[in-house]
Amino acid sequence: MANNEDQFKKVISHAKEYGYIFGSSEIYDGLSAVYDYAQNGVELKKNIREYWWKSMVYMHQNIVGLDAAILMHPKTWKASGHVDAFSDPLIDNKDSKKRYRADVLIEDHAEKLENKAQKEITKAKKRFGDSFNEAEFVTTNARVLGYREKKAEMLQKVARLLEAEDLSGVKTLIEDLGIVCPVSGSKNWTDVKQFNLMFGTKLGASAESATDLYLRPETAQGIFVNFLNVQKTGRMKIPFGIAQTGKAFRNEIVARQFIFRMREFEQMEMQFFVRPGEEMKWYAYWKETRLKWHHSLGLGTENYRFHDHEKLAHYANAATDIEFKFPFGFKELEGIHSRTDFDLKAHEAHSGKKLQFFDPELKENYTPYVVETSIGLDRMFLAIFSNSLQEETLEDGSTRTVLRLPAILAPVKIAVFPLIKRDGLPELAKEIIEDLKWDYNVFYDEKDAVGKRYRRQDANGTPFCITVDHQTIEDKTVTIRHRDTMSQERIAISEISSLVAKSLSMKDWLQ
Ligand code: ATP
Repeated sequence: MANNEDQFKKVISHAKEYGYIFGSSEIYDGLSAVYDYAQNGVELKKNIREYWWKSMVYMHQNIVGLDAAILMHPKTWKASGHVDAFSDPLIDNKDSKKRYRADVLIEDHAEKLENKAQKEITKAKKRFGDSFNEAEFVTTNARVLGYREKKAEMLQKVARLLEAEDLSGVKTLIEDLGIVCPVSGSKNWTDVKQFNLMFGTKLGASAESATDLYLRPETAQGIFVNFLNVQKTGRMKIPFGIAQTGKAFRNEIVARQFIFRMREFEQMEMQFFVRPGEEMKWYAYWKETRLKWHHSLGLGTENYRFHDHEKLAHYANAATDIEFKFPFGFKELEGIHSRTDFDLKAHEAHSGKKLQFFDPELKENYTPYVVETSIGLDRMFLAIFSNSLQEETLEDGSTRTVLRLPAILAPVKIAVFPLIKRDGLPELAKEIIEDLKWDYNVFYDEKDAVGKRYRRQDANGTPFCITVDHQTIEDKTVTIRHRDTMSQERIAISEISSLVAKSLSMKDWLQ
């Protein structure tokens, strides 16, 4: 499909047109970086969540689920480090009154140098034609090298300043680089300040007695504070895991790219508790297991890659991202972190309660180490949706838009059509639905020619269409049409359910 930006625009408009995603409170012009899942979106999201949940909880005898509350005791966030360290450096332009992430301003500025380098490459390509050797050019051309060197220097400098928490140094860098506000065009900047990403709220009725709370910025802490409750009541033995899905909230400053970065989003997290010293073995295990899960959906193995972190968060001794090729490039989809005993130890210190495990084999108490897998459900939705939306040119030269969602995740599994709106065909179609609806989300459509109805379901992502015609009355057979191949076959009504079931087997997909 055209270029990536066009493709991304198509993804967003298709998601709206086909009832997958709407902007939040649109009649009031929307709320930035907050989205609502519509009639099809809610089904796709639910199916992704279930695909993850079953692969974690049902497939592992030593992983159990949890659904902790969004609101937690405020000390939780002191212990986890979110009160002190979960923040972005912000700067305001005094003329436009616009607020920016200081590091992003510098990164965008650095990107301009890359654009200049790209221009040189394009120019040279034109000049030299077929004999152009790009690999050689970018390593020898003084201009390209100069731009790229300057860019790298800039990025290193800002990383060093942030690491040292030197905010006035960051401001000086912005001034030295002559960065202007994209809106006002002026260099009239405020000082750089840290801004906490957590949403605050109040518990209690009167202003004086109310307690400050936060909406959780990650689901993980609900798992940590319940570690011992689950271990004891579930009689779990190390190693074991606790899985949870649920909403998380972050007051993101740079909130763009549709549902990639939202202020209210959903996470699917699993914390795996292990013996100290065995964490690297389990870290490797979960890296491999999670990548396999992604590959099982058939979106193309070339669209995933690991990005191992060099700079680690304060709680981690190893970390990687599984990146996915979104329409705007490879970006983080899931994080896998070896979190050591940081969280459990911190909660022990702040609560004064022991969070340890007595290992019957080793005959000793210890604070377990944790390996975490954390994926954004909305980001996974975007990965699947954008990858599945395709425009094909058919043999007759016409084009069709098809949403090739993995059948196991598709919102509607079967659409049933009467060929025409009379002769008892609609009644017969509805009878078939009455039987199928116990196992599948089924859709009925009788409007327009059948060919048009097929195309609507292609664009909707429905893997199977069933057409009821006059022959159905005589011999109880129907036409089943497959979305991906557009092939059609005649089968007995009694065979529909088992044929569809075959393509939706969790066992087949996951294996
Ligand atoms: P990023 O670097 O993109 O901000 P992160 O490293 O802060 O992400 P984590 O804190 O590791 O993300 O959260 C785990 C997962 O939660 C991410 O891999 C991502 O899929 C998802 N996630 C995080 N922030 C958002 C958000 N604002 N909107 C949607 N999903 C998010």
